[in-house]
Amino acid sequence: MEKKVLVLNLDHTPIAVVNVQKAMVLTLLEKVSVLADYPFLSIRTIDREFSYPAVVRLDEYKNVPYRGVLLTRSNLFKRDDNECQYCGSPKHLTVDHVIPRSKGGKSSWTNLITACHRCNVLKGDKTPEEVGMLMRKKPFKPTLAYFLAEYAERNAEEWIPFLSAKAVQPG
Ligand SMILES: [Zn+2]
Repeated sequence: MEKKVLVLNLDHTPIAVVNVQKAMVLTLLEKVSVLADYPFLSIRTIDREFSYPAVVRLDEYKNVPYRGVLLTRSNLFKRDDNECQYCGSPKHLTVDHVIPRSKGGKSSWTNLITACHRCNVLKGDKTPEEVGMLMRKKPFKPTLAYFLAEYAERNAEEWIPFLSAKAVQPG
């Protein structure tokens, strides 16, 4: 399976995830430095063998506008670990407005939560307090790093040291 490559800015802020071909081009053009490789993997061309990069850092600072995480159904489910935030069921997931739209509730990260169909119907047009339902966690606005950390835990543990603020090194 092909592995993804994490791209850091010169100040070590994660800015993108690219495929390995793109990372190799950046490396060969000397635009990036490789900070970590995937062990036991390599890239072979006809006459050479390269190590397989996991994390690369731009050699020149790039001004990147802050990109939040897009509010979509699948990103919302991902934030909520694909579980109903009332009963924990992973089945028949729907999007619930914590404060119902009829009561002025907005479609925002902090007012939307993952609920199974059953809990959504049970809650109806009320707030959780009104029906005595408890949320497992308060809905929050996730950052790009939050999503990358989740991806890294499952697919690319080599990234983990670079996703924590403490990993920022001078230079
Ligand atoms: Zn439920």
